[in-house]
Amino acid sequence: TTREFKHHLVMFPFMAQGHIIPFLELAKLLAKRTGFAITIANTPLNIRNLKPKIDSTGAGLDIRLAELPFSAASHGLPPQAENTDSLPYHLIIRLMEASEHLEPHFERLLRRICQEDGGRLPLCIISDMFFGWTQDVGHRLGIPRIQFCTCGAYGTSVYYSLWIHMPHNQTHADDFVLPDMPQVTLQRSQLPPIIKMATGSDPWYLFMNRQISRNVRSWGSICNTFEELEHSSLQHMRKSTGRPVWAVGPILPFSLVSSSPSDTIADSDFLLRGLAEEKSSRACLQWLDSQAPSTVLYVSFGSQNSISLSHMKALALGLESSQQPFIWVVRPPLEAPLNSEFSAEFLPEGFEERVKEHKLGLIIRKWAPQLLILSHPSTGGFLSHCGWNSVLESLSQGVPIIGWPMTADQFANSKVLEEEVGVCIEMWRGKEGELEPETVERRVKMVMKEEKGNRLRQRAAEIREAALKAVSEDKNGEMKGSSVCCG
Ligand code: UDP
Repeated sequence: TTREFKHHLVMFPFMAQGHIIPFLELAKLLAKRTGFAITIANTPLNIRNLKPKIDSTGAGLDIRLAELPFSAASHGLPPQAENTDSLPYHLIIRLMEASEHLEPHFERLLRRICQEDGGRLPLCIISDMFFGWTQDVGHRLGIPRIQFCTCGAYGTSVYYSLWIHMPHNQTHADDFVLPDMPQVTLQRSQLPPIIKMATGSDPWYLFMNRQISRNVRSWGSICNTFEELEHSSLQHMRKSTGRPVWAVGPILPFSLVSSSPSDTIADSDFLLRGLAEEKSSRACLQWLDSQAPSTVLYVSFGSQNSISLSHMKALALGLESSQQPFIWVVRPPLEAPLNSEFSAEFLPEGFEERVKEHKLGLIIRKWAPQLLILSHPSTGGFLSHCGWNSVLESLSQGVPIIGWPMTADQFANSKVLEEEVGVCIEMWRGKEGELEPETVERRVKMVMKEEKGNRLRQRAAEIREAALKAVSEDKNGEMKGSSVCCG
């Protein structure tokens, strides 16, 4: 018997949680909506980590995993360093450069898939914005390549523009206008550190230049955002690339567990089921259950960032004097040796005991069930580094943000959320300077207790409604909102 032919898509995320998670969720949506076969390519360790997730949440979908050979050590990386988890920031560029060496393996994979599919080429490659080189592979084989921007449309446009118009180390003015985005005025303090330091011949610049020069020629772009949140930035991308740009978001972790994506955003039960075994999840929930609605501030800086010791102490004291209940995900400060455990010494003396004794908050080491916390009615604010996944998770739950951008697109995200969307107040920028506990206290009180905070929450609730609408389905499971998935 001849096997029915299935179209095949090949997806390839950069090796960081903030990229792998949205790629996986997009793969599930595409597999569900198209019935196509999807192959996700990555290095062996990341494929091993993905397998149980596909087994548990991708059941019945034709999602296949493909390992590309990779030896971290031969690129000067610590053994087993196949993603940014626990990788110190200065080595991330090395991981990026190493990823370019996957090119021959990726090409071999595509040829193999083509052979197995009876000589039919995969329909397209959907690959990371950091993998511009996949454009060349697609071009050689005649396969269209689409870049998936796991950032927002505003963040991507600003970030690209900054890299394209280098160098900025000569720019001394406090304010400057982006040449191709005259509506955007940035302050020097809003430049990501690697961009501020880039000379035009440093490894970061050379890497980003290699990727972006190819990305702008990609067949189209997919952004994890939605029209109602970022229409003008999406239009800007469409105009400047002259190619299709699809908004598919918000794509959140664990979508598709319940019957429709809109349910999954609204309904945290599925999270409870999935995470019920986890002790920290239960501790968080129990504690959140004991708090009044919209009173808890959730504090977390994503999966990669740490703050300095002095910032950590100022943040602790500021939280304490605000007397606002909080959940804080702590990581060792920047000064701590690599791979060290979190120690109470990183916090002001007696802080942890006082917090416990007065039931002021929860201090969680390393990793918290973020979406579960944000979806709890007691959570009323999020002190965040403004990583795009965190932003989408927060807004999809109607939670306003206190911004503390630290790197990459986060400065642009914080800016657009404050100035244009109206759901954020920035508290601090970057990892330097002297942060006073009073600054923290004032911002926390403003968002959690004062009228300004109510306005932000109101606006965040409107964005949540728009997000639900963007990904809503009709009775037949067809998308009826603005977000498209394989339109
Ligand atoms: N995350 C989490 N628990 C934590 C820290 C992070 O679940 O304690 C998740 C968070 O929900 C988000 C991702 O990790 O999905 C972080 O992505 P984001 O784009 O916000 O920041 P990045 O880590 O890429 O800087």
